[in-house]
Amino acid sequence: MTGGARHMGREPPKQERRVKTSDTLAPPPRELQSAVPSRPSRAEAEAAVRTLLRWAGDDPDREGLAGTPDRVVRAYEEFFEGYGQDPVEILQRTFEETDGYDEMVVLRDIRLESHCEHHMVPIIGKAHVAYLPGTRVVGISKLARIVEVFSKRLQIQEKLTSQIANAINEVLQPKGVAVVIEAAHQCMTTRGVRKPGVTMVTSRMLGAFRDNPATRREFMSLIQGQHGDGLSNV
Ligand SMILES: [Zn+2]
Repeated sequence: MTGGARHMGREPPKQERRVKTSDTLAPPPRELQSAVPSRPSRAEAEAAVRTLLRWAGDDPDREGLAGTPDRVVRAYEEFFEGYGQDPVEILQRTFEETDGYDEMVVLRDIRLESHCEHHMVPIIGKAHVAYLPGTRVVGISKLARIVEVFSKRLQIQEKLTSQIANAINEVLQPKGVAVVIEAAHQCMTTRGVRKPGVTMVTSRMLGAFRDNPATRREFMSLIQGQHGDGLSNV
C-alpha cells in the first residue's frame, strides 16, 4: 500500500503543491509527516554543506565555493521536490469516457532521475509503465508525473518500482499495472565496485500482468521494441 491511498475519497486540494524556488522545501508527504522530525532551516542546511566541503578538504570561504552552499540547497529543492507532491492528487483527474477502449496503455522510455537513499548519489535510467484500463483512463503525462514524484525522493529501485505500480493500481483501479525500471546507480558505477555499464532491472506486475502470461508478454514485447540500445544517453 502506498500511504497516499489512505486519502482516497477526500476532496482533492485546489492547488498542486509544487516546489519552485521557495525558502524551504514543501512539507513532507502526509504519510511521512509524523515520522519526519522538525525540518532544519535553510541556513542550517547551508551550514551542513559548508561542513561537508571542509570534510572533503577544501575551504568553503574561497571564492569559487562562496555560492556553493546556496546552490547545493537549491539543487536539493529540485532533486527532492517529490516529497511535497501527492501522487493521489495527480492521478485523481481521470477521463471516464473511453469509448470502449480496453487495450493496454503503455508509456515507455520515461526518463528517470532519482537518488539512492544509501549514498545520496544519482540513479539514472528509464521507466516503462503500462496499465489495462478498467473504467477510467488518465492522461499519459500523469503517468510520467507519477514516475517523477516518486523519483524525486530518496529511493532504492525496488521501492520506487513498487510505489509507482501501487499508486496507479490504487487510484485508477485498472485491470492490471506493469512497471519496469532499468537504471544505472552511480554509487556502483563511480565508487565502490566501480562497474560502469551495469544496469539494474526491476519490475512489478499487478492484476492481469501478473496473472496472464499473454498480457505480460505483450507488454514486454512492446517495451523491448525498437527503441535504441538501453541507457546510451545516461
Ligand atoms: Zn547507493
